[in-house]
Amino acid sequence: MLDVVIIGAGPAGLSAAIYAMRAGLKTLVIEKLPLSGGQVVDTYEVDNYPGLPGTSGFDLADKFRAHADKLGAEFVEGEVTEIISEGKIKKVVTDEKVYETKTVIVATGAHHALLKVPGEEELTGMGVSYCATCDGAFFRNKTVAVIGGGDVAVEDAIFLARGSAKVYLIHRRDELRAADILQKEMLALPNVEVLWDTVAEKINGEDRVESLDLLNKKTGEKRTLHIDGVFVAVGINPESSAFATRLTVDEKGYIKAAEDCVTSEPGVFAAGDVRTKNLRQIITAAADGANAVTSIQSYLLTL
Ligand code: NAP
Repeated sequence: MLDVVIIGAGPAGLSAAIYAMRAGLKTLVIEKLPLSGGQVVDTYEVDNYPGLPGTSGFDLADKFRAHADKLGAEFVEGEVTEIISEGKIKKVVTDEKVYETKTVIVATGAHHALLKVPGEEELTGMGVSYCATCDGAFFRNKTVAVIGGGDVAVEDAIFLARGSAKVYLIHRRDELRAADILQKEMLALPNVEVLWDTVAEKINGEDRVESLDLLNKKTGEKRTLHIDGVFVAVGINPESSAFATRLTVDEKGYIKAAEDCVTSEPGVFAAGDVRTKNLRQIITAAADGANAVTSIQSYLLTL
């Protein structure tokens, strides 16, 4: 019988794996994709993880995974569809197998939100993208728009400005949500223009993105902006649907758990972006992994 099954291999899951192995727990990590790291993998540059200034997201994720591997953590690929609680035993059900364990850490993270405007779905992959580091190279010397005003939108605009001719950042308010240092870096770039108080109402194009219909919410002015690509960065949604019936979630679907990562179900813990918290960063996700394992050690003593 396993001591802990960790669902997800982003910073929270990998940190949990490191702490669990060091605590001598029989540990299995189930990851959905063949590449560990979660959202970090899609981040071009991470500049706020202590000790590793200016590291690439890919390299950081690789280091996290290598650390867990070095300690002997076991990884399998699979999509978890359900956690069944049978008293002190939990059954973690995947599309292929059922794993029996004493405890579970849900560290499934979050995925990008949709803009939900006409043209978005039809043109996804044909100029509409949710990952600048994955798709930015297709827009070399072209004109692109980034929609959103958070860390991801501003990071995407900075990244895209390195290769694209012109980047429009389209934000619905007159103030950005992103970290100050990112804002300053982006606003200093000559080929980035911010369209404030502006929303995209429609993405136009036949076989590829050609333009965006915009509305200035303050002036009421409408215009059509000719662009080659649209990067949507309007926030994230928790990856919690498989657990939302068993665990208590908030109105947005985040699994309710405090810093100790304890959920409404004894023996099931939530760590990282998928849990209710104020600050979603790599470092807070990694901290959750440590906290979840510490809570598990206390829980195991009660069995
Ligand atoms: P976020 O911080 O929630 O920002 C989402 C942005 O999209 C906001 O500016 C929001 O506008 C805008 N938005 C939301 N819905 C919209 C809509 N329907 N139409 C137009 N605009 C819309 O999300 P994020 O940037 O994806 O970041 C997710 C989390 O990861 C955050 O907690 C962030 O701090 C963290 N993160 C941190 C780093 C880092 O530290 N380097 C990097 C990446 C991500 P309003 O501002 O008006 O609400």
